Amino acid sequence: MQLIVQTKEMQRRSEQHRREGMSIAFVPTMGYLHEGHLSLMREGRKRGDVLVISIFVNPTQFGPGEDYDSYPRDMKQDLALVQSAGVDIVFTPSVAEIYPEGFQTFVEVERVTQNLCGASRPHHFQGVTTVVAKLFNIVKPHRAFFGQKDYQQLITIKRMVKDLNMDIEVIGMPTTREHDGLAMSSRNSYLNPKKRKEALCLYRSLLKAEEIFGQGERNASTILQEIRRIIEEQGNSATIDYAKVCDAHTLEDIDEIKKEAVIALAVTIGKTRLIDNIILKEE
Ligand code: AMP
Repeated sequence: MQLIVQTKEMQRRSEQHRREGMSIAFVPTMGYLHEGHLSLMREGRKRGDVLVISIFVNPTQFGPGEDYDSYPRDMKQDLALVQSAGVDIVFTPSVAEIYPEGFQTFVEVERVTQNLCGASRPHHFQGVTTVVAKLFNIVKPHRAFFGQKDYQQLITIKRMVKDLNMDIEVIGMPTTREHDGLAMSSRNSYLNPKKRKEALCLYRSLLKAEEIFGQGERNASTILQEIRRIIEEQGNSATIDYAKVCDAHTLEDIDEIKKEAVIALAVTIGKTRLIDNIILKEE
């Protein structure tokens, strides 16, 4: 496994692999890796001759007052984990390498970033698409893997790749959960045991939504009422940022589920903002 910190060196290596006719699989991450990240890497290992991952906590996707400075970081542990996942190259650039002085170009995907996290975190997705576009230009992958846990991010990246004619296959991977259903996230490390238990209300409410959908319920406000009820059972500990039923492709709010919808949640447990979602589909 090789560690690369410079963009020029990464580009040179990728170019060389491409000339040799090898396919490049890529998993971008912000580190503090867990089983969710590793599931993406294992799929990448199967679907590429060379597996590249990046570890970069991207400052432009954090808003003022968000957790950029305190975001968990543990490079030593991350490197040990990725070794076991068969990663060939770990790209870990510095902030100055990605955003050198004079940097002033951003990528903006319009409509699908308006709702959900885009509404609560202005500029977040502009930061995400800008860094992912840059990473794509540096790593030059044939395939890139993203988690459905960050569903709006996945849809946004797919849209960017399509709209900008990037010759990359974007593959969405299912959400990996803890044994009790909590969606794995680097931010779960902020939760103490009590909050960790309370955080289960997100998944519990999504399961309830799935259950009533299975019984024939199609009305968004009835489903959301159930979700809110379950989350509000936590009292003051849980604050709903949003709970929405959206079209699974446009991410616009819908009143009635027809074919396929995403139920998306952002809930703050104590001080930790967690997101989760579930896709509901007609059989
Ligand atoms: P992050 O390090 O949080 O930026 O995540 C890097 C990638 O891992 C993104 O594509 C995420 O969607 C994905 N990811 C994060 N958590 C999970 C999870 N629990 N299951 C599957 N993928 C995940």
